[in-house]
Amino acid sequence: MSTQTIEFIRPTKQATTPQRWSVPDVEALFKLPFADLLYRAQQTHRKHFDPNAVQLSTLLSIKSGGCTEDCGYCPQSAFNSSGVEDRQMLAVSAVVEAARAAQQKGAGRFCMGAAWREPTDEDMESVVEMVKAVRDLGMETCATLGMLNDEQTEQLRAAGLDYYNHNLDTAPEFYGNIISTRDYQDRLDTLERVRKAGMNVCSGGIVGMGENLTQRAGLIAQLANMDPYPESVPINNLVRVEGTPLAQAEELDSLDFVRTIAVARITMPAARVRLSAGRQQMSDAVQALCFLAGANSIFYGEQLLTTGNPDVEADRALLDKLGMYPSTDKQ
Ligand code: SF4
Repeated sequence: MSTQTIEFIRPTKQATTPQRWSVPDVEALFKLPFADLLYRAQQTHRKHFDPNAVQLSTLLSIKSGGCTEDCGYCPQSAFNSSGVEDRQMLAVSAVVEAARAAQQKGAGRFCMGAAWREPTDEDMESVVEMVKAVRDLGMETCATLGMLNDEQTEQLRAAGLDYYNHNLDTAPEFYGNIISTRDYQDRLDTLERVRKAGMNVCSGGIVGMGENLTQRAGLIAQLANMDPYPESVPINNLVRVEGTPLAQAEELDSLDFVRTIAVARITMPAARVRLSAGRQQMSDAVQALCFLAGANSIFYGEQLLTTGNPDVEADRALLDKLGMYPSTDKQ
């Protein structure tokens, strides 16, 4: 497919006064006829991005398992019995080696994730070194380390961290069904610190955890009403891992997942909307619909934090089939 015949407007900065979205307004989007919803999402997408470019992020678990939080979907929680082994923090050299390998395969952003409620001061020393070293490779950096205090946020900013990920997971009304060891406001406070420090915010959620449509709309409204909304919005489809309380959750209809992507695109027009966990269980056709709905970022590499992901060759083949290519925009 020729890229020269396609007109698109370069990504623009978000308006300083974002449109406010009520939950009923977002729910009304979800209820649009499928073709109308996707058409509107495509129109929005094409105003802000090259519709055929996809940003590639690789995720590495720098410390796994034994987390003291009780997130019902997570195989790394010490409350769950999924068989994920506790693994202490990787050495900085191992992280840099993994980042270099990801870069050679075409990833532009490297995300470092640790299974912590919050990092200690000692943890932060290593993470800061990792961030600096990965940046020195010329990659964008992202970290997901749990809750942060002011000092830790400043340490990450000073190290040059580009993005901090902290997901809202779900709507406030459904949150208590999934997690009890920290509250919604704790999450909002961490995101506020990251924003105030001047780093880009990566925040999204998980669908298919048993939430109803209003609650799914509530998650999107929470994200879209942040001022400004996150630059990066990972939308995860629950991976039902044995040994977690959500192992038996009812599977979300694929088209409802596509609708979630479209609604995220419409309500957060200039955000990178990332197809995240659950992609390995999706057919090429469903992924293609997600791209059509406005997804323009994927996790790239065989492994997410603990669950599987399509392999690099399969992703390359899919992008080729769709006439898509890696994004070169630093956004
Ligand atoms: S999602 Fe994060 S905070 Fe929750 S249990 Fe898993 S590793 Fe811990």
